[in-house]
Amino acid sequence: MTHNKTNYIERLHKNGYRLTNQRQVILDVICQANGHTTVGEIYYRAKKFDEGIDRSTVYRSLDLFVKLRLVILGENIDGERVYELVKEDQHHHLVCTNCECDIDIDSWIVEDFYETIRKEYDFQVTKDHLMVFGICRKCSE
Ligand SMILES: [Zn+2]
Ligand SMILES: [Zn+2]
Repeated sequence: MTHNKTNYIERLHKNGYRLTNQRQVILDVICQANGHTTVGEIYYRAKKFDEGIDRSTVYRSLDLFVKLRLVILGENIDGERVYELVKEDQHHHLVCTNCECDIDIDSWIVEDFYETIRKEYDFQVTKDHLMVFGICRKCSE
C-alpha cells in the first residue's frame, strides 16, 4: 500500500470527519486498484472486506473524498465515473478508446496548454487531472 493513512486521518479530522472503518476500507480498495476504478468495482471489492457496506455508503464516502481532495474523479471511455487516489504530483492521461491503454502525459505539456488558455481567455484552469481520449499508436497502425 502506497497511501499514507496519517494524511487521510488528518485531512478528515481537519474538516470534522472521522476515518471510520468503512471509509478506511473504501480508501484501501481504491488504493489497491492502483489507477482508475469505477463505483461498481469499489463496491464489489469493499463488500469483501465489510459485508455491511452498501452502495449509498460508497457513494457518500466517494463524494466526501472528492470534496476533501483525497480522491480524484475522472471518467472512463464509457463516460462512467472513475475514482483514483490523489498523488503527490498532478498527472494526466491519454486513454485509447480501442485497447483502453493508458499513457501518462508529461505534465509540462498540460501546464503549457493551461497557460495558453489563461493568456488567451483570461481563464484559470483548476482541473489538475486531465483525461484525453483517442486512438493509440499501436491501434492506428
Ligand atoms: Zn488519473
Ligand atoms: Zn490502443
